[in-house]
Amino acid sequence: MTLDVAWSERWVRRAAEALTAARADLTELDRQIGDGDHGENMHRGFQAVVAKLDDGTERTQVGEVLKVVATTLMSSVGGASGPLYGTAFLRASKATERAELDGSSVVAMLEAALEGVTTRGKATTGEKTMVDAWQPAVDAAAGVAQDGGDPVAVLRAAAEAADTGAASTIPLVATKGRASYLGERSAGHEDPGARSTALLLGAALAAALTDEVPSA
Ligand code: ADP
Ligand code: MG
Repeated sequence: MTLDVAWSERWVRRAAEALTAARADLTELDRQIGDGDHGENMHRGFQAVVAKLDDGTERTQVGEVLKVVATTLMSSVGGASGPLYGTAFLRASKATERAELDGSSVVAMLEAALEGVTTRGKATTGEKTMVDAWQPAVDAAAGVAQDGGDPVAVLRAAAEAADTGAASTIPLVATKGRASYLGERSAGHEDPGARSTALLLGAALAAALTDEVPSA
């Protein structure tokens, strides 16, 4: 399967579906260490992205699709995650101005997204944020690409590492974002943004494994 423009559109639709399915769970995570709006933010944001994707524009580069994600999230999602994901997808869109991604362009896309998150949020790993999912995803993807893995294998490594990375936030004490207000009491809960990052990258992989497009 090639990671082309059609793949990127399937990715967005699968992400919207996954985030809507996880809406209550993400909200519950954010209720425990934040203000309980992350599920709603992500659900609303990606529903808006899908609506924009359906505007009839023909897109010929992966980056054009990711740019729709970026601009729509920036304008429709409040809170910390809107600008963070908006910047991540904007940087990722600039790294993917091509019709199809090979393994190293998948790595470049993920690196650009991580750079967007860290430029905007100034967090590093271990601070219990979405960086704890993005960073291992980038590292794992780079390793597989270096070993000559195909683009789907690179994406699989990223998705799996993001999932493990999100789970690894459970014992951490938050030092960035709203959860940091809780201090030690933030330990024992998974970071909602790290979980949504794992869901996003899982959707990217799922979109690469099947041509099926989820209905709305
Ligand atoms: P808010 O915290 O404004 O309510 P959300 O609930 O939508 O926004 O998003 C919270 C998530 O944003 C956190 O779980 C965390 O992953 C992420 N986040 C918050 N601050 C930062 C930061 N400085 N750097 C990276 N990620 C952050
Ligand atoms: Mg919140």
